[in-house]
Amino acid sequence: MRRSLTNIRRLAFSCLFTLLLSQAAVAKESINGVRLWRAPDSTRIVFDLSGPIKHNLFTLDNPRRIVVDIEDVELAASVSTLSLGETPIADIRTGVRNGRDLRVVFDLRSPVGSSSFVLARHGEKSDRLVIDLSDANARPASEPAREIVLDAISGHRDIVIAIDAGHGGEDPGAIGPSRIYEKDVVLDISRQLAKIIDATPGYRAELIRTGDYALALKKRRDLARQKRADLFVSVHADAFKHTSARGASVFALNPHGRRATSETARYLAQRENEADLIGGVGSVSLSDKDEMLAGMLLDLSMTATLSSSLQVGDEVLRAIGSMAALHKHQVEQADFAVLRSPDMPSLLVETGFISNPGEAKRLSTPSYRRQMAEKIFSGIQNYFNHTPPPGTLIAARKNGAGGFGEHIIVHGDTLSDIAKRYNVSVSDILSLNGLSNTVIQVGQRLKIPST
Ligand SMILES: [Zn+2]
Repeated sequence: MRRSLTNIRRLAFSCLFTLLLSQAAVAKESINGVRLWRAPDSTRIVFDLSGPIKHNLFTLDNPRRIVVDIEDVELAASVSTLSLGETPIADIRTGVRNGRDLRVVFDLRSPVGSSSFVLARHGEKSDRLVIDLSDANARPASEPAREIVLDAISGHRDIVIAIDAGHGGEDPGAIGPSRIYEKDVVLDISRQLAKIIDATPGYRAELIRTGDYALALKKRRDLARQKRADLFVSVHADAFKHTSARGASVFALNPHGRRATSETARYLAQRENEADLIGGVGSVSLSDKDEMLAGMLLDLSMTATLSSSLQVGDEVLRAIGSMAALHKHQVEQADFAVLRSPDMPSLLVETGFISNPGEAKRLSTPSYRRQMAEKIFSGIQNYFNHTPPPGTLIAARKNGAGGFGEHIIVHGDTLSDIAKRYNVSVSDILSLNGLSNTVIQVGQRLKIPST
């Protein structure tokens, strides 16, 4: 009896020992994915985690490298597939320490600044560890606004349009059927739009996001201001709760504290404002100080800016309406953080609902994207043709001797409407364009006499 009890004790003891041993060999959390995003002046590496972790980042010299130690984690993903081509990283090595910790070493080609942070689980995104490496020779963020470029012959400047492709990098935006990502669709439309704008005398485009990386909403506005943009256009293709929601829409800011003009507008603004959180670039919030400032700005320049935003938004909406279904027939307003510029007219264009299978399909074709870009620009041109900023080539054309503006006909336009908008007579438009009657067609370009 005594002997068998000892045996049982021994057995229990050895079981416990085996259990302890096997626990020691298995790390608590795992890294299930690794991604790398290259921006013009920085590189971001993101580790997808099964749960929260502790980590420590430090640098070592000779040769220069960055080391990240992560406690109690195993690597269940590959770092060898990451494309390091345009980054300052020469190689990434990993090794297990103390049986259950992970060390990741970044060998560097050139000096970088480094920082790291963790992002807690959010929606479909798991816990993440983010390593940011900023190029040492990157231009400082406080770079002074660049000189206004004047046309060498006319001495007049271009109208500058900042085009902001929504989302990017860690933030895919809305995901449509067959894994079509909003961030890719809108970057393509934005690039096409920039091409069309740059090919038009009197205009210049500035792309705010130039590749697949995340950008904070505030930084998008700041970049546009640095470029001295006359107009800021953020391009999106979002999802709604119901897949039946369809149609393009145009939004302007509804300043903080005011009700959005519709449930859809409120919902979309709320989703858009989460982009910083999802993209890992901070979070949008209005501190008490900001709120006071927001109130003041609203009373001052913002009212004028907002009124311009609504006018140009109306032109863009009408132009898009001549090719695509519209979700609402007027410019809607909600508190989109990316539109909070007190002195720069700003629009957010939803080119369609990517959650709607029909619209997702159209948005995935290059010709539809091109058409969408053309229409957005027609609307922008129609606005600036009757309200050009002083000192620009377009203003000189409108006011100059023998000069004339141009109006592109959109759906619903009539000659008498157009004449009223430009403050000229219908007969002057007819004679300048050599027209014998008032029949006009969508897409037709009309010369508008100077007033
Ligand atoms: Zn979006």
